Amino acid sequence: MTGGAEAFADLEARRGDFPALDQEVNGNRLVYLDNAATSQKPRAVIEEVRRFYERDNSNVHRGVHELSNRATLGFEGARRRAAEFIGAATPEEIIFTRGTTEGINLVAAAWAGRHLRPGDRILLTEMEHHSNLVPWQILAARVGAEIEFVPVVGDEGLLDLSGFDARVRGARLFACTHISNALGTINPVKELCARARAAGAVALVDAAQSAGHAPLDVREIGCDFLAFSGHKMAGPTGIGILYGRRELLEKMDPYQGGGEMISSVHFEHSAWAPVPHKFEAGTPDISGAFGLRAAMDYLDAIGRERIMAHDLALAEYAYARLAEIPGIRLLGPARGRAGLVSFVLGDIHAHDVVMLADRVGIALRGGHHCTQPLHRRLGVESTVRASFYLYNTFAEVDRLADVLREIRRYFSR
Ligand code: PLP
Repeated sequence: MTGGAEAFADLEARRGDFPALDQEVNGNRLVYLDNAATSQKPRAVIEEVRRFYERDNSNVHRGVHELSNRATLGFEGARRRAAEFIGAATPEEIIFTRGTTEGINLVAAAWAGRHLRPGDRILLTEMEHHSNLVPWQILAARVGAEIEFVPVVGDEGLLDLSGFDARVRGARLFACTHISNALGTINPVKELCARARAAGAVALVDAAQSAGHAPLDVREIGCDFLAFSGHKMAGPTGIGILYGRRELLEKMDPYQGGGEMISSVHFEHSAWAPVPHKFEAGTPDISGAFGLRAAMDYLDAIGRERIMAHDLALAEYAYARLAEIPGIRLLGPARGRAGLVSFVLGDIHAHDVVMLADRVGIALRGGHHCTQPLHRRLGVESTVRASFYLYNTFAEVDRLADVLREIRRYFSR
């Protein structure tokens, strides 16, 4: 047992909570290292979704019967829980979405679409996921705005912040990922939001990779908007959260029209429901909200500080173990990185590495990880990514390192 394994024995014991981990893949015990794409779900979440469908299933808000009351109470309870989970001032600042992507699209359409004018500037970084890039490109084309980027430097994958104040001056919006899904870089979002807002820009944080991995407090970060997905933090797919400062939400257009988002409708015109319902047209993912609340409870019972410490220790250990493999090129910071490691293994194509690892039951991801421009900037077409969560072990990292060595040997014969 490595020292790391002993220090995090309590988390390793949590593996039993995740039924999907208890299986063999291609004749080997599953080693699931694709958590940045989606995490596995603990029994508590799976059972909460099932319990909802077996006992409380009904539509929310409009009904007066018992099941509808239970569904509404649970759904609005999940909103309150989400507000508490990220330190929002009120539940009205919490909008249920399908995930990070929809949250960012909502801000682009409903805030930027209303407030940006031709020639206005949007500042992003070169390490954004396509979800925090393409919506701004669509919006910029629609309103005639321009997009600029904070550069990423070298394989270490840190933002070059030397010209940040000059770049953000005059920008209407600054949007930045908290943790890079491709590099593992942890960006200083508190500092960046403060500098962006001091320069008069609205600040959005993409918390897809951080919400379930680290303590998060929107008022401490000082952002105007923050988006994340339930499925990356032990919750169900199809549900996510957009936090927005109330003052801004009040001045936004609706995102979509339909039921639930109105206060009154006439043949000629309609009036909108108060926030957050103005942004939640149609029947929401009710079971998803129940499941997401169970996920938040599950994570907080462990402690997000503890999960973060584990992620960081595992990533640092993985970086050191993988760095010993001849010909490997590791991307992202050597220290202080989030729980993932991306690399290129000599001249072996990422998909070959992933396919061969899968043959022995290790789930990795290969490709551009929805960061094509970043990969081009780094001069690589694709990378392999191993991403960790609370249930991954130091022994799994050892197994990964051994298998990668074997793959390397196989290709150099
Ligand atoms: N932003 C980052 C940093 C991500 O890693 C991802 C997903 O991989 C997303 C946004 C998009 O999340 P979703 O597909 O859940 O909307």
